[in-house]
Amino acid sequence: MGIILKAENIHKTYGKGELAVEALKDCNLEIEEGIFYAIIGKSGSGKSTLLHILGGLDKPTGGKLYLEGESVFDLKDKELAILRRRRIGFVFQAFNLLQEHTVVENILMPIHLDNKDPDMEHFNEVIETLGIEDKLNYYPDELSGGERQRVAIARALVSKPAIVLADEPTGNLDENTGQEVLKLMKHSAEKFGQTIILVTHDMDIAKEADRIVTISNGRIFSIEDSLSP
Ligand code: ADP
Ligand code: MG
Repeated sequence: MGIILKAENIHKTYGKGELAVEALKDCNLEIEEGIFYAIIGKSGSGKSTLLHILGGLDKPTGGKLYLEGESVFDLKDKELAILRRRRIGFVFQAFNLLQEHTVVENILMPIHLDNKDPDMEHFNEVIETLGIEDKLNYYPDELSGGERQRVAIARALVSKPAIVLADEPTGNLDENTGQEVLKLMKHSAEKFGQTIILVTHDMDIAKEADRIVTISNGRIFSIEDSLSP
């Protein structure tokens, strides 16, 4: 399997002068295709910043990111937006659903924007596993936080992106639903050869991954194979 995503000497500083925060320092990471990664670290260690940069959502202050060999931050904004939509599924709390669209419209949006037809068998599997099949015609503001989170997960998975990036995806969910969501992500990754990068501060969740990246104080501290089967 090849390297799908490569981060080279990534730095990220927020703010300037005395207020500057060095959120990431000299991060090097090679993400192998088809592998499930967990990025673990304390609150404030730089996990979300790293994930945003890996997804091309936020520019680093220094360093390069290559997606399938292409230098992501050298692309024009429009090209980058298309690349993200076609190749990456985001499960971010801050990555909002469109309020004026129903649940089903939100979930199918990335596919429709590409003028493609959804795989309805996969769609049904995803919404049933997430337990949102009764919510398809609701609007996001008619749902609970956990339900909205599940819709965001469905939206990220239904288009079968090459890479799924998830920031604490089970954070708003009860333990059972959280476990189901993890299982669904793993199952979908295996079935479609997807690469998953999941951020968490919870070792029990990280253990589910194939490989665990530990981040501490903005630096990648270790990259290890997970011991669980
Ligand atoms: P984590 O996700 O591990 O909790 P973050 O990546 O969110 O960590 O944050 C890393 C560091 O960068 C923290 O010190 C945080 O306060 C800071 N930070 C994150 N986002 C911003 C921002 N938009 N502006 C300024 N500082 C930020
Ligand atoms: Mg975070």
